[in-house]
Amino acid sequence: MSKSYIKYPIAFHKQSEKLINISDVTDANKTDLICLECKENFVAVRKHQTPHFKHKPNSVCKGNVETYIHWVTKEIFKEIKEFELPEIFIDNLTDNQREKLDYEVNNLIKKKVPENLQLKFKKDLKKNISESGIFQIEQIEIEKAYKTSLGNVRIDIVTTINNQELFIEPFFTSQIDDLKKRKVALLEKPTLAINLLSFVHRFDYKYNLENLKNYVISKNSKYWIFNREKKIEKYRLEYLNYVSEEIKKQQNDFKLNNLKLKKITELENKVQQLEEKIRPTQDEIWKARDEIRKIKNDIGIRDYEY
Ligand SMILES: [Zn+2]
Repeated sequence: MSKSYIKYPIAFHKQSEKLINISDVTDANKTDLICLECKENFVAVRKHQTPHFKHKPNSVCKGNVETYIHWVTKEIFKEIKEFELPEIFIDNLTDNQREKLDYEVNNLIKKKVPENLQLKFKKDLKKNISESGIFQIEQIEIEKAYKTSLGNVRIDIVTTINNQELFIEPFFTSQIDDLKKRKVALLEKPTLAINLLSFVHRFDYKYNLENLKNYVISKNSKYWIFNREKKIEKYRLEYLNYVSEEIKKQQNDFKLNNLKLKKITELENKVQQLEEKIRPTQDEIWKARDEIRKIKNDIGIRDYEY
């Protein structure tokens, strides 16, 4: 299938260097709208059930749906002034970081939570070690190259927030590979992945600039793939504090639980004593039944005849 049949909803306006929706195309601007991949002019198909841009039939563009959403997203980052950073979830930590946290949380629980409540207590704990928040973007750089001891790495979007660089890697079908993750870790830059595939699927290709902007700004589009060790260490201590607080909050429940456990033990002891008390009587009952059976057997009465 020719590339000219792919329907694109957004184009790049050469003069203003801004993105533009197909719905905002006019006779005045329609000749200045290009694909940033090949720099060729897009054809604006406005009288259509789904208005869209497309390449000319003789286009040599090597782009596709995936490279398209990549460059549109990069351009969008140049236009937004702030965005939401997601929570760091325990699942986002490296194996080492997660094991360390888990070990210490388990220790606290083992020491302070009644054994029968430990599983539920742990399950009910929050799954994030930091909170989400809206941050101003101070600076933005696209396609920035860095040198690491594992080789060079090109970062799609480098934002500056609170005077610190934060990397953003949009992905479509293939997620950020381990080598890139290791390079990012060597650079010690906090790094987020943005899932563009789920966006495109959600809107079934019929999205506009606003949809994509809102998605990119929202924390729901991103997850952390790297955070500096120092920061994780700080959040780890805060999380352990939170667990201790939760234990304190549930002290009354734990006390009540322990009272009930004590009551169970008391009742079980009582049942045991009562059983011992009636054992001689029970033995006599069994003995008498045994005798009845023998006598009946002697005189030919079988129980099944009753
Ligand atoms: Zn193109």
